[in-house]
Amino acid sequence: MENRLKTIKDRISKAAERCGRDPGSIRLVAVSKTMPADRVREGIEAGITILGENYMQEAREKIAELSAYPVSWHFIGHLQSNKAKYAVKLFDLIHSVDSLKLARELDKQAAKINKKQDILVQVNIGEEASKSGAYTDEVKSIISDISQLENLSVRGLMTIPPFFNSPEKVRPYFSALKDLGDQIREEALPNVKMDELSMGMTGDFEAAIEEGATLVRIGTAIFGKRDA
Ligand SMILES: *Cc1c(COP(=O)(O)O)cnc(C)c1O
Repeated sequence: MENRLKTIKDRISKAAERCGRDPGSIRLVAVSKTMPADRVREGIEAGITILGENYMQEAREKIAELSAYPVSWHFIGHLQSNKAKYAVKLFDLIHSVDSLKLARELDKQAAKINKKQDILVQVNIGEEASKSGAYTDEVKSIISDISQLENLSVRGLMTIPPFFNSPEKVRPYFSALKDLGDQIREEALPNVKMDELSMGMTGDFEAAIEEGATLVRIGTAIFGKRDA
């Protein structure tokens, strides 16, 4: 685990240097979905500081079991409104906000515990019917509505682009997400910072960094293959 983590961190640094970015401006989210708490503990002891989880029930159990560790948990899976109360309680950043309805529920639950919840808006940048995320043409209006919600802070955008075997084919989608984020930042809306782009996974994170990713979500290259 330690070696794998070191290899990934080196690759992140090299990708950053290739395009003149500070490697410190890119954070690694280690995606631990389906991995048992013991494997995650091993990862934390090897130096992981941010963990990404997809399924609420699984995450609740793991986070409870690993509560002694000073790590940050991010929610990256599809989130249902009825799980919003757990999401605001457990996660520092929610990557997968894809509707105003969900944002309103998160705002309400965050208010109850006096928290300003950091979120990303998930964009379905490839316009794929099978994927969640807001469509590009709705994102600006959703974010403009979210900017009125006092207990949310929109930190940026997240995407899961269409799958290709070659990272070069994915690159245009990363660059489209970056452009969209830049346009929204210019609007300077309240409660909207737009300083984060969550994009890039095991197969394509270097291209994502070259296109401006600030958060890369990597599972397989750290924890190994997941059981289907
Ligand atoms: C599983 C998952 C990842 C990690 O994928 P790998 O290919 O294993 O690195 C990243 N982001 C999301 C949203 C995921 O569900």
